Amino acid sequence: MHKTTKNIAILGSTGSIGTQTLEVIENLKNKELFNIISMSCGNNIARFREQIKKFHPKKVCVGTKDAAKEIESEFPKLEVFFGDEGLIELADDKDLDIMLTGTSCCVGLKPTLKAIENGTDIALANKETLVMAGDIVTKAAKQAGVKILPVDSEHSAILQSSGGNFHLLNKIIITASGGPFLNSTADEILNAKCADALKHPNWNMGKKITIDSATLMNKGLEVIEAHHLFNLPYEKIDVVVHPESLVHSAVEFLDGSIVAQIGTPSMHIPIQYALTYPNREIGIKTNSFNFFGQNLTFKKPDFEKFPCLKMAFEAGKIGGTMPVVLNAANEVCVYKFLNNEIGMGDIFKTVEYELNHHNVIKNPTLDEIFDVDREIREKLSKAVC
Ligand code: MN
Repeated sequence: MHKTTKNIAILGSTGSIGTQTLEVIENLKNKELFNIISMSCGNNIARFREQIKKFHPKKVCVGTKDAAKEIESEFPKLEVFFGDEGLIELADDKDLDIMLTGTSCCVGLKPTLKAIENGTDIALANKETLVMAGDIVTKAAKQAGVKILPVDSEHSAILQSSGGNFHLLNKIIITASGGPFLNSTADEILNAKCADALKHPNWNMGKKITIDSATLMNKGLEVIEAHHLFNLPYEKIDVVVHPESLVHSAVEFLDGSIVAQIGTPSMHIPIQYALTYPNREIGIKTNSFNFFGQNLTFKKPDFEKFPCLKMAFEAGKIGGTMPVVLNAANEVCVYKFLNNEIGMGDIFKTVEYELNHHNVIKNPTLDEIFDVDREIREKLSKAVC
């Protein structure tokens, strides 16, 4: 029988991607297409409560035991889990057809692998999953025959532009807005304050990713993500700074022809494309792009002013546990930066130091990946940078 309703889990439903995913689902022409059977949130319980009332999931997961008790008493029919283990419980559900991972940071990896094992397609918004364990995740997906559909706008643009013909690509061109410090001097960047870094010109996102966009580490993580998603060597991945964020990325085919995906910045399109792939007739139509009066400009990224991008390429090329170190060291530093404990220059120095002092493990197991991740986090959380 043809199945018309897809069971979906939304991890990180109160975050930026999660809330926009719920908006996309609400606005689909076919309201029956998705049945939200599970949702998770970190600590925004107030928003989560409203979402539960509106979308009626069967199972939920919250950050802490106390929050779980609170939700349980308010919604007695709901199955309530908590913590990282709870996320795995949500993912370990054979009834799921697709899972959107909109959780931030490294917590997305284990639930994603669990869902893949069960044959659930993944709409992936959590780039750390592929940065930390891209080889393991893509291998598992291939074995299970599941799709990993990118929600990240650049990767969605590459999927859309390529038509899925990755073997016909000469290279991919990932665009970067350049962030708020595009025209700053090296000194200004090193001494940048958290409040300045949070002012992203084009996209409204969570705080961690906004800082990563200011340092261009976000672009670096996206390069590693693209390497795994599209099975392309790093030599075939270019980064082009495009401050207007209208070309969301492009591909160059073997014959030199370039196809780009263009539009006003909106996460609704990549989210909707991942959820309804490969159909385009079920979703809502966004406003048509106005070509007139637009000024598209492109620049070479400055690897000296933005060393995170360079470090990401290098860590990606070395592979093994190197990207794990890159990601963990950066994440700890970004949270310290958000707390005004360290400056932006300290992020660069610390990540570089950790990469230079890491004994890389080639082809690591999942346990080895988590060991390295934990080691770096524990060390840097204690350290005064
Ligand atoms: Mn992106």
